[in-house]
Amino acid sequence: MLKLNSEISRLKGVGPALTAKLNNRGVKKIEDILFLLPRRYEDRTTLYHIQNAPINERVLVSGKIIESKILFYGRRSLFVKIQDHSAELNLRFFYFSRSQLQQFKKSSHVRCFGLIKSNGRKYEMIHPEYRFISPDEEFKTDNKLTPIYPSIEGIQTGRLRNLIDQALKIMRTSNPDEFLPRKVLKEIKMPTLGDALINLHQPPAKLKHGQIDEAINSYKERLSFEELLANYIRLRKLKLLAANMVADSLRFGKDEINQFIQSLEFKLTAAQERACEEILIDINKSQPMMRMLQGDVGSGKTVVAAIACLKTIVNKKQVAIMAPTELLAEQHMESFSMWFSQLNINIVKLTGGQKKSTRENILMQIQKGDASLIIGTHALFQDGVNFKDLALIIIDEQHRFGVNQRVALREKGSHSKKQPHQLIMTATPIPRTLAMAAYADLDSSIIDELPIGRQSIETLVIPNDKRPSVIERVKDACTKGQQAYWVCPLIDESESIKADAATARYEYLKKMIKPLRIGLIHGRQKNADKENTMRLFKDAKIDLLVATTVIEVGVNVPNASLMIIENAERMGLTQLHQLRGRVGRGNKKSHCILLYKKPLGTLAHDRLSILRETNDGFAIAQKDLELRGPGEMLGTKQTGLPQYRIADLLRDAHLLPKVQKIAGTMMLDFPDETKNITMRWSNSDHNYGKV
Ligand code: ADP
Ligand code: MG
Repeated sequence: MLKLNSEISRLKGVGPALTAKLNNRGVKKIEDILFLLPRRYEDRTTLYHIQNAPINERVLVSGKIIESKILFYGRRSLFVKIQDHSAELNLRFFYFSRSQLQQFKKSSHVRCFGLIKSNGRKYEMIHPEYRFISPDEEFKTDNKLTPIYPSIEGIQTGRLRNLIDQALKIMRTSNPDEFLPRKVLKEIKMPTLGDALINLHQPPAKLKHGQIDEAINSYKERLSFEELLANYIRLRKLKLLAANMVADSLRFGKDEINQFIQSLEFKLTAAQERACEEILIDINKSQPMMRMLQGDVGSGKTVVAAIACLKTIVNKKQVAIMAPTELLAEQHMESFSMWFSQLNINIVKLTGGQKKSTRENILMQIQKGDASLIIGTHALFQDGVNFKDLALIIIDEQHRFGVNQRVALREKGSHSKKQPHQLIMTATPIPRTLAMAAYADLDSSIIDELPIGRQSIETLVIPNDKRPSVIERVKDACTKGQQAYWVCPLIDESESIKADAATARYEYLKKMIKPLRIGLIHGRQKNADKENTMRLFKDAKIDLLVATTVIEVGVNVPNASLMIIENAERMGLTQLHQLRGRVGRGNKKSHCILLYKKPLGTLAHDRLSILRETNDGFAIAQKDLELRGPGEMLGTKQTGLPQYRIADLLRDAHLLPKVQKIAGTMMLDFPDETKNITMRWSNSDHNYGKV
């Protein structure tokens, strides 16, 4: 008989290809699929009279067709008017076929489900789902709310729903293992896991609109709590373990480091010096360093990392740097090669997109110890990569990697007696209370000043109907030898849609800014092409670079001093700040133009104003948090905070004190449950960090 802890492949309809996709999302056992929660619920349990339907909600209505025609003014559309006893409702379809027009025959009856809008006099639904019915057909509504699941690339929603239904059936005969002891559940006053899962997948039908979120809140919190607890316990354990572990004490290299600092074309800031000192003291010890280096975009974290690298290499050990994108890995490759050009250090790059023969050659150098500095993406820590003598790991822009990836990496090392030192770099300022939970295993260093001579970036907020004048401005600036970025973000779209949008914008701008040189970079290009374009831009052989958000992290071209960001109103402040950080990296006065689509809501307006007022990443993050009420839809996705499967650090911040307290109890009194709970949540999610 199937149990919740059977392999996911045992479910009906799950072959090897689907198994692989699910595994990739952390779904290995049948139970795991129950942790993919509905994004929202649709209510098809009530058939509304049009007049009584709650406006701006998705509702079920039905009526008789009294008119249908094609409208040619404005955007061409199919217009259908229906009527029930209470009122009339206009249906509009912008995508439709001729046969649809014929289907909507006068006097037929139709049942529709969709978002109902009203301007006070008329009711309207755009693109509802619909079904024709016979007038005397007995009307059966659903008897429960319909959960809507998030889409997973490559898995049809119907298929996913079917798998979850199968799992829920199994759950009826055996509940999932409850790892929170009864005593704990009582103390935190939360439902059992089984209760939580059932209610989240099949909430009670009798709920009305607007009550759903509140009704399921406690169940969602139950899961968030367990996830945060599991993560916190893992981190605490790592911290405890680290104290008993041995690392290479990196003693030599003082002179080399001084010489290196002398050789730089700039003087380190006091904050950089302080951070270096803290790191150098740590790696001198024979316990592994576990340190996070925080610093705003452009504060100069890379050179601090370089100093730590140099120390490691002088001590004849290996150091690995992991970057979230291939683009950034390539850029580090260039910076380090330049900085260390006099030092005869063998630097190699290992990324996912390399040719087999190249890869094998590099793997060999890593294994034999011929390569001392290894720069790469997450490919660095996949099976088959064996370091000869790795003493330091540096993770750049760590927020791009999921919590699990980071922790899995540490755990991988923790099996041997000796562990490498770790330095984790992030540009995301994290309020202390959140940091204590999310980075419970790390010490921290902060670079809180920018290099001298940096001028603040002047930011303008402009509606996109002024685009032509913005283009003139770009043209003008580039003619005078400046370089510019043009970012087409279109968040939440697939990589290929983003690529198409950027390509279209590129073609358009190319015509507009002739004879200037223009380049294009997006996630769908081959690595070699991306690198080539980036190099041309760096060498000032391209004046304007049209890009998707692939350039969001780390890209460093100091001569670029103008940035245009489209659809800025749809992006998080932290993300905009990161993007904007691509300019203002040299001594030139830089400008950032945020284009938005009208009309701009008050909240959106306030948010964009913050960017105009300050260049301070920490202040921006703080404001970003304040402006996100609990009901805000954006979530942590764009804040740069660590991503969890269900929990959301901002939304669930109030749970953190409880999490910390219960973690103490569990680790002391319930070792088995503690172990089980961390196992349940430690499936790594490989989807992070790919851009
Ligand atoms: P981030 O902290 O965003 O990773 P980088 O390390 O990429 O920033 O540094 C941004 C730019 O500032 C680079 O061009 C780097 O060489 C330069 N830089 C770093 N430190 C200093 C300094 N003390 N003075 C002047 N320029 C510096
Ligand atoms: Mg950086």
